[in-house]
Amino acid sequence: MRANEDTLVRELDAALPDGAVMTDPDLLVSYRHDQATGANAGQPAVAVFPRTTEQVQAVMRAAHSRHVPVVPRGAGSGLSGGANASDGCIVLCLERMDAVHEIRPADGYAVAEPGVINQRLRDDARAHGLLYAPDPASRDWCTVGGNIATNAGGLCCVKYGSTRDAVLGLEIVLADGRVTRVGRRTIKGVAGYDLIGLFVGSEGTLGVVTEARLRLRPLPPPPTTAVALFGDLVSAGRAVEKIMVVATPSLLELMDATTLAAVEHFQPMGLDTSAAALLIAQSDLPGRAGEVEADSILAACDAAGATESYRSEDAEQADMLLGARRLAFPALERLGAWLLDDIAVPRSRIAETILGIERIAAERDVIIGTFGHAGDGNLHPTIVYPHDDPDAARRALAAFDDLLHLALKAGGTVTGEHGVGVLKRRILAEELDPVAQSLHDAVKHALDPAEILNPGKALPLRKPPATHKNP
Ligand SMILES: Cc1cc2nc3c(=O)[nH]c(=O)nc-3n(C[C@H](O)[C@H](O)[C@H](O)COP(=O)(O)OP(=O)(O)OC[C@H]3O[C@@H](n4cnc5c(N)ncnc54)[C@H](O)[C@@H]3O)c2cc1C
Repeated sequence: MRANEDTLVRELDAALPDGAVMTDPDLLVSYRHDQATGANAGQPAVAVFPRTTEQVQAVMRAAHSRHVPVVPRGAGSGLSGGANASDGCIVLCLERMDAVHEIRPADGYAVAEPGVINQRLRDDARAHGLLYAPDPASRDWCTVGGNIATNAGGLCCVKYGSTRDAVLGLEIVLADGRVTRVGRRTIKGVAGYDLIGLFVGSEGTLGVVTEARLRLRPLPPPPTTAVALFGDLVSAGRAVEKIMVVATPSLLELMDATTLAAVEHFQPMGLDTSAAALLIAQSDLPGRAGEVEADSILAACDAAGATESYRSEDAEQADMLLGARRLAFPALERLGAWLLDDIAVPRSRIAETILGIERIAAERDVIIGTFGHAGDGNLHPTIVYPHDDPDAARRALAAFDDLLHLALKAGGTVTGEHGVGVLKRRILAEELDPVAQSLHDAVKHALDPAEILNPGKALPLRKPPATHKNP
């Protein structure tokens, strides 16, 4: 360790509790990157594990005075390289700030620290008869801080919105160590600029979330499940369009044949692998109203050409199908090397996008398994190719960019929920117009003029990333 790194570590040691500063290179390896493949990561100087807002402020002040980059980190489950380390950085791990301070049923919110695991908050809310809606498939281990920083989505978004829709208030530590509380305790309120909207989804580049006031809703009754199989993907895409005109499902998910086969291979459960696509939808309206909504979903599927459609009367079967959907990515990633995309398109363009994905797979000679939150037009085409095959890797990377361009051409976006991170910066510049790009730069400059917060992430790549002094 260099002398100036040594001084930094001493200052951090003095400000933080015992065991909260890690410099062992063998241990730091685990904090270098998130779950994304194909995203660069540097070598951190140190990882810190604060327990309080004041300790986070002390870390930021130490970093700010030395111009040392800081990479905030939740569980590292991200899929865009957003939590990947920069060379010489401090990895600011929020995992030990994991208290749920209060749950206020009458006011409809919970107050939680950033390191709280998503499912833990859902469980705590459920104990009060309430729902914390955001439910990324990684909910068993991702943190609410990471969810806020990525504006994470999930299966419930189609009815209840993304994480942004669940955030009422935030406590944020800024790059220079100042702390601010934005938002409110009320469900309604329009005073001032929407600073919550600015911080949610900013991927750790504008401030560090140290506490959040998160909206809770009444727990819906057990859902009614509708399932439809299709002989071709385009019909499944058309069904999604039709469903969203007649219903507000609480979940609407798609899996293609490649994904169904991968899941069945990974955990045999009797899925129909002869279908080109499976749609699974749920209504969480109570009783008969749920059945009526599920039936309208099935009618829409039939009108779009479903080969089979049924209301699942069996809760176990419905759980099994949802379990299969949650296994989609883990099953595909076992097939070889992989690149996961996260495009979103207007729902009326899903069918043509699915056709485009098939065309790209054929042109680039790669396997692409597609699954996703179809009700939001959010698809995760996952490119799978053999390990240790440089030519296949080159084709996969080309296919990855083709998919992003496909989404943009359909009026969509390069990321529906995983964030820009490192992976999408180059192509983000094609999504944002020049004025929007300069507004992004202006906001970053206003909040973090020294560019120490998560450098090299989230912003459109127009110029070489700023260089940072090592500590
Ligand atoms: C199997 C699997 C399934 C997934 N399913 C979904 C899904 O359905 N929907 C979805 O949206 N995502 C999904 N993801 C992606 C990932 O889980 C989400 O992006 C999640 O929100 C990341 O949370 P995290 O705690 O792991 O954050 P990290 O990966 O540690 O960090 C993510 C970003 O947030 C920043 N950050 C973290 N904490 C803070 C903080 N307190 N303050 C400021 N910035 C912070 C980091 O710097 C980074 O930019 C999935 C991932 C996997 C591996």
